[in-house]
Amino acid sequence: MRIETKCLHAGYRPGNSEPLTLPVYQSTTFKYDSSDEVGDLFDLEKEGHLYSRISNPTVEFVEKKIAALEGGVGCVFTSSGQSALFVALAAIVRAGDHIVSSGAIYGGSMNLLAVTLKRYGVETTFVHPDDLEGFRKAIRPDTKAVFAEVLSNPSLVAADISGLADIAHSNGIPLIIDNTFMTPVLCRPIEFGADIVVHSTSKYLDGHAVQVGGAVIDSGKFDWCNGKFPEMTQADTSYHGVIYTEKFGNAAYINKLRVQMIRDIGCLQTATGAFLTNLGIETLSLRMEKHCSNALQIAKYLSGHPSVIKVNYPMLEGNKYFELAKKYFPAGGSGVISFEVRGGRTAAAKFMDSLELANIVTHVADVRTAVLHPASTTHRQQSDEDLIAAGITPGLIRLSVGIEHPEDIIEDIDQALLKAVNC
Ligand SMILES: *Cc1c(COP(=O)(O)O)cnc(C)c1O
Repeated sequence: MRIETKCLHAGYRPGNSEPLTLPVYQSTTFKYDSSDEVGDLFDLEKEGHLYSRISNPTVEFVEKKIAALEGGVGCVFTSSGQSALFVALAAIVRAGDHIVSSGAIYGGSMNLLAVTLKRYGVETTFVHPDDLEGFRKAIRPDTKAVFAEVLSNPSLVAADISGLADIAHSNGIPLIIDNTFMTPVLCRPIEFGADIVVHSTSKYLDGHAVQVGGAVIDSGKFDWCNGKFPEMTQADTSYHGVIYTEKFGNAAYINKLRVQMIRDIGCLQTATGAFLTNLGIETLSLRMEKHCSNALQIAKYLSGHPSVIKVNYPMLEGNKYFELAKKYFPAGGSGVISFEVRGGRTAAAKFMDSLELANIVTHVADVRTAVLHPASTTHRQQSDEDLIAAGITPGLIRLSVGIEHPEDIIEDIDQALLKAVNC
């Protein structure tokens, strides 16, 4: 199946007389005829669902779809993008370990790495994604993962996925890529060497701003037996001594992530949440086409506007990431643009307040056009230095272009810019 077809048909394939659409198994638990059978499930000797904290049939159908879309061997569908990144890392690091991350990442991911994980003894070194040599140098003997966003939120910095994969692999560690902004319709990081892909499904996969969620996808390609990952190759005492690499082969990582991390942390997606997200995924390829064409048209319009100093959109010729974009997402640059209004923070605020169609929300990547002023919202916890390092200036506006008629979006921006720059 090609990607458009997978969006509809991967995962759930109804049999004779079964429901056409994804059934919602809204049940915390599942009934068995004998305690022996339940015992086998607990021992991981049999596959099946026990309790919806760990797995659920509806959630599993969508996990299979997302794994198929990304080209992985398995997926865990979590309650949020934040919990996806947390369990993706927590499955392989322990206190004393180290992570090398792109410095241009989502504010929440930055908090998780720089503050929360650090509090638990896992330190992260941040490197600008343009500086591949910097990644190589930052890797230490205790480094357990390299992390970057394929196109960063909100700074729209593209990561050189193959370059990062080569650096990670020559050090025997996995590359984890957040593919939220591109979606598997526009880019499949596993094809370029990523070992683990994470998503906030709250964005384009859902696409309608109705369900928060996240996903971790395992490529099945990383060699966990290289001596660096005792978490994967030594007995798990909380599971009567199971050794994940022996028990699950090339799906060791994603199985460990479920049976240990999700069991203990309890951040699985719900059945109803999976149902809603799946409705979004069914139209993902169509929506991404429209987001891409609208965004490109609006980016070009903004580039020629006298009240705009700078426009960031990877598909604009002359954009710093144009070459990387052509390599990694040739079909389109997704729907998010950022731009700098002439007049800094004050003009940016006035612009925001003058919009009539576009909504001011912290969300991105749904069907309706939305705007955000990162310096005063998502990134307000960060110092000016950190902001600049993440590519954010005080007058920067993030515009998440929806699927409305492009002329309606342009007319709204136009009238708001007129008011903002005249103030
Ligand atoms: C939104 C987002 C997250 C966090 O996801 P939630 O679903 O809000 O928890 C992580 N990474 C990126 C790139 C995001 O855009």
